[in-house]
Amino acid sequence: MDVSFIMNELGEERELYFNSIAPPIMQSSNFSFKTVGAMRELLMDEYSGYLYSRGKNPTVDILRTKLAALDGAEDALVFSSGAAAIFAAVLSQVKKGDHIISVRDPYSWARKMFEVILPRFGVTTTFIDGTQIENFIEARQANTTLVYLESPNSFTYELQDLRAVAHWAKQHGIVSIIDNSFCTPLNQQPIAMGIDMALQSATKYIGGHSDVMAGVLTGSAEKMKQIFNSEYLNIGSGISPMNAWLLLRGLRTMEIRLQRVSATTHEIWPKLKAHPAIEAIHFPFDPGFPQYELAKAQMKDACGLVTIQLKTQSREQIEQCCNQLKHFLMAVSWGGYESLIFPACASVPENEFDGTNPRHRMIRVYFGLEDAGYLWNDLQQALDQLV
Ligand SMILES: *Cc1c(COP(=O)(O)O)cnc(C)c1O
Repeated sequence: MDVSFIMNELGEERELYFNSIAPPIMQSSNFSFKTVGAMRELLMDEYSGYLYSRGKNPTVDILRTKLAALDGAEDALVFSSGAAAIFAAVLSQVKKGDHIISVRDPYSWARKMFEVILPRFGVTTTFIDGTQIENFIEARQANTTLVYLESPNSFTYELQDLRAVAHWAKQHGIVSIIDNSFCTPLNQQPIAMGIDMALQSATKYIGGHSDVMAGVLTGSAEKMKQIFNSEYLNIGSGISPMNAWLLLRGLRTMEIRLQRVSATTHEIWPKLKAHPAIEAIHFPFDPGFPQYELAKAQMKDACGLVTIQLKTQSREQIEQCCNQLKHFLMAVSWGGYESLIFPACASVPENEFDGTNPRHRMIRVYFGLEDAGYLWNDLQQALDQLV
């Protein structure tokens, strides 16, 4: 399906709401019925219509239709955050005694769920280096029911071979889930490669303006309906109509925003790589990246995030370099209009900083929608002070 059609037309029934171009924000917690029969029908099958907005809501449904189509999936559920989407997706696929294989460095709150919450219910997780398919094969146990992927991750960008992992998982009846936040469906289509469910933090590129939190989960109609009737309704972490509307607005410009972010990223990463203050850069579309060929084989583009690794082993110098940036905001997250930096050393207690550890010398850079020259000048003035 054409992305232009999905973004502008699909799911919108404008004649139902006075031909307004922008969809209505259906800010209603519940919906009424004319007859007991009609009410009974919905109570028996909440998935089939509008009963109560913890379940379905018309504004949210427009968004669901578009997000499912973008992923080439049969259906989508939208959550109040990416973390909620991760939690519901994983919880829906495991029971006491089950075993999960997860990539080594999943998103921090996915990791906490695997390490802290799930063991309380008798679900164990093995973390593996997902760059090698052999590690999946080796980690499998008789009770492995789920494999959890994130390709690339959003700091060092390790990939998994999605076609190979999906094929292996299917052979063993293991459900596969991927966190596709880095790429979005515009740059990577995991479901077409055989992955069962794809999720994303919609807080990042879909929202695109750093003003809304949300998460998306896509997959087969059967799986989505099952999750809707259980975890989605029970946890109650669906999205509000207002926030769904903000995501619909974000979708209108998502493709062009990503094009701009991508052009800036591709203009600046080679300059960063060549700068004398920098020891290495981490970016999947750098031909020097260890999995460059795989990145090109399964991703359309990589954009927005580049991690630089400074040469200096001095925490003071690293911090000074970051503090000196004038046009990059220092913050977690990414995907908005504004450029950001996230120094790894900010998540290390001062007395545990180890200059010989390359990770402590890494700074993640996110390129937003500003002019590339303007951003490069700022990076350059801060980096020049280190040489
Ligand atoms: C931000 C993020 C999440 C979590 O999404 P929230 O919307 O912040 O809950 C999950 N995975 C990745 C890769 C992320 O960057």
